[in-house]
Amino acid sequence: MNDDRRDGITRRKVLALGGAVSAALLAEGGLGAARVLAAEPELPQIPRRVLGKTGKKIPILLMGGDGGFDKVFDPRLAEGLRFGLDYVDAADCYAGGTCETSLGAFLKRASARDKMWITSKSDAHDPAGFAKTVDQSLARLGTTYVDLMFLHNLGDARHLNPELAATVAKLKEQGKIRHFGFSTHTGNVVEMLHLAAKTPWVEAVMFRYNFRKYGDKELNAAMDAAHAAGVGLIAMKTQGSEAERDAWKQFQQNGRWTKHQAVLKSVWSDARITAAVSGMDTLDKLRQNIAAAVDKSDLTAAEEGEIQRYAALTRSLACDGCDQHCGAAMRGHGGEAGAQPQIADTLRYLMYHDTYGRTDRARELFATLPAPARDLARLDFGPASRACPHGVDVAALMQRAVTVLA
Ligand code: SF4
Repeated sequence: MNDDRRDGITRRKVLALGGAVSAALLAEGGLGAARVLAAEPELPQIPRRVLGKTGKKIPILLMGGDGGFDKVFDPRLAEGLRFGLDYVDAADCYAGGTCETSLGAFLKRASARDKMWITSKSDAHDPAGFAKTVDQSLARLGTTYVDLMFLHNLGDARHLNPELAATVAKLKEQGKIRHFGFSTHTGNVVEMLHLAAKTPWVEAVMFRYNFRKYGDKELNAAMDAAHAAGVGLIAMKTQGSEAERDAWKQFQQNGRWTKHQAVLKSVWSDARITAAVSGMDTLDKLRQNIAAAVDKSDLTAAEEGEIQRYAALTRSLACDGCDQHCGAAMRGHGGEAGAQPQIADTLRYLMYHDTYGRTDRARELFATLPAPARDLARLDFGPASRACPHGVDVAALMQRAVTVLA
């Protein structure tokens, strides 16, 4: 049997079928969309899992909107739908605010609102600002409701307060949002997951989770607590990408899957995780991820072993976002209150620049940091390098950030 055949389909078939239709869509500028804008049962469909206490089933692979979409009709959205990828992860700020308007254009042109789950996020964390962002998102998306609304990148527990709970309840009553949760990629993700577990009106959390985190006992305990409390868990940053652009070459493909596919399958093997969001900026990446998702076999021991070998080899090249360590080390070295460098964010933007090649987006995000956090050349990051528990050479990477981002 061909080694890529599983459950009656082959990866080659997924790719070939996807390619033919996408080519047609591109040629027609999307006008031929109506005939393909639905799941096609004869094609392998992405498995679905229940998203915690929302009680709703969503696909295990979610379309990330961070990079934005074609402003008229994005063929990746149409292609994903055919295989059951009907969940789009948007935010008020993604792609300079155009993610939602582009997605709205697609929904309208494809008459696809009732076929898709739309999540959006608010960068405003106060009740009035959150409600205002919801209205703005609905207007941009051209819809009357979003399926799930997140507080975006929540790191301060005080925002989950009774006033916000009342606002969320009202927005639900008004039919503007169906479910509520938050995303978090701050250093206190463990605290935030425990908080979600204790907050009945938090239905889902999207958080940074990948193969480098499997041995993290505190994180695992927090995930257990949230999962047991019925909080739907969505993984992001599953690639664990390094700020060093050639690091990926150290992954030795000894099985069927590329590094990109293998680490996704590895995250899906965790039963606590409902789904993984992925930024798929090309049709090729989308098809590769679909192929990994529809394949129901587990990774082999050798494939799992290679992920762990790769994780160990590249440990000091990947930043985990735990800047309570390196940030604290900079106090007394020019990084006092009001002048703190934002090390985790800066390294994430550097990774976008060097590893993903998203140069404009990286600079755009860096430009949103407060002025003292952008003035990197004034600081010696030696203390941060020495404080990093993973051995990240913060000083060298910050020097590069000065060159390419500042
Ligand atoms: S540099 Fe190290 S300590 Fe700082 S956020 Fe990254 S992984 Fe954590």
